[in-house]
Amino acid sequence: MSLTNLEVVGVIGAGTMGHGVAQVCAQAGFEVLLYDVTPGAVAEGVRRIDRNLSVGVEKGKVTAAEREAALGRLKGVASLDALAPAGLVIECAPERLELKQSLFRALSAVVSPDAVLASNTSSLSLTEIAAAATGPHRVVGLHFFNPVHLMKLLEVVQALQTSASTVETVKAFGAALKKELIIVRDSPGFASSRLGVALGLEAIRMLEEGVGSAADIDRAMELGYGHPMGPLKLGDLVGLDVRLAIAEYLYAETGSPTFRPPQLLKKMVRAGKLGKKSGEGFYSYPTE
Ligand code: NAD
Repeated sequence: MSLTNLEVVGVIGAGTMGHGVAQVCAQAGFEVLLYDVTPGAVAEGVRRIDRNLSVGVEKGKVTAAEREAALGRLKGVASLDALAPAGLVIECAPERLELKQSLFRALSAVVSPDAVLASNTSSLSLTEIAAAATGPHRVVGLHFFNPVHLMKLLEVVQALQTSASTVETVKAFGAALKKELIIVRDSPGFASSRLGVALGLEAIRMLEEGVGSAADIDRAMELGYGHPMGPLKLGDLVGLDVRLAIAEYLYAETGSPTFRPPQLLKKMVRAGKLGKKSGEGFYSYPTE
């Protein structure tokens, strides 16, 4: 699949990342098919896209006509089979290897043999995900950042099996989305999560030890190191369940104590304090 004949993009998962990925694809002119297994999730994703675009119009970043056109290119679908016309599918399902492998196995049989299959995984082995697909050369990591419509970076992750032509296609696709690309080889946590999660987990350990308040630990990085957002606030934004899943995987994969999940993180997830999406994490959030 080359970019010139790529018209339809499929997105699996309409949660924190999936709705954002669907939005930027629709804004870039692609027809988007959005699928989620949870009842109501697609409708909620479309509602969030509608709201993001309305804010864009209010701020003068998007015209009303562009908003309408993007929404017109977006279609929710009720089954994986409905993604058949897609030349590129971007999987944004939860961070679990077996789940992603089963989705890629099923997807391989649904889309055309030259369709590109991408995962938005933050840390998992693309090589292992690709191994589950038919035609593993067309599997690649497309790691977007949250919120997708505002964050410039797109980390392209090459599995051991990824072909050069697949990389060329996704480079052109990333450019069409107006993202800045980095290209990395498959390795636990890639470039971004390996560094970002190390910092985030250390901040949680510091909070556990009583080094400072969440706000002061965050301010150390914001004001002292010029980070736009401190590591605890960022954890809340990402979702503490997502952070924990990544930490558990990186710890199992590398054995490095840097990635051992702190007790506080585990307890917060067990208590349903998942950050912004649940209304409470290291900070409290009014319901959206
Ligand atoms: P999320 O929990 O917000 O959304 C996941 C969605 O997938 C849910 O709506 C769920 O119903 C759906 N889903 C679950 N099983 C499915 C299936 N079998 N088929 C279709 N849909 C299914 O999660 P998220 O934060 O959007 O994370 C998704 C992926 O993106 C993960 O791999 C995560 O590591 C990665 N990621 C997350 C962030 C972040 O900031 N949250 C950033 C970059 C990458």
